[in-house]
Amino acid sequence: MKLNLQLFAVPFRRTSKTKKRMRRTHLKKEAGEFLTCPKCGAAIRPHRACAKCGYYKNEDVLHIKKAEEEK
Ligand SMILES: [Zn+2]
Repeated sequence: MKLNLQLFAVPFRRTSKTKKRMRRTHLKKEAGEFLTCPKCGAAIRPHRACAKCGYYKNEDVLHIKKAEEEK
């Protein structure tokens, strides 16, 4: 009788908690880069207009109206 079995490499032992955790210490999301807006000082992403004051490269590109100006 011929058995048509395919043999695979099988882990000798289950990976321990410590080994698994040691491996996963490198799996983390990096914090994005942030700059401070020169106009209002809020944290902004580089190459993007400031969400608070709408300024990019000292130019008002979003024309966000402030609550104080509307009154
Ligand atoms: Zn700003």
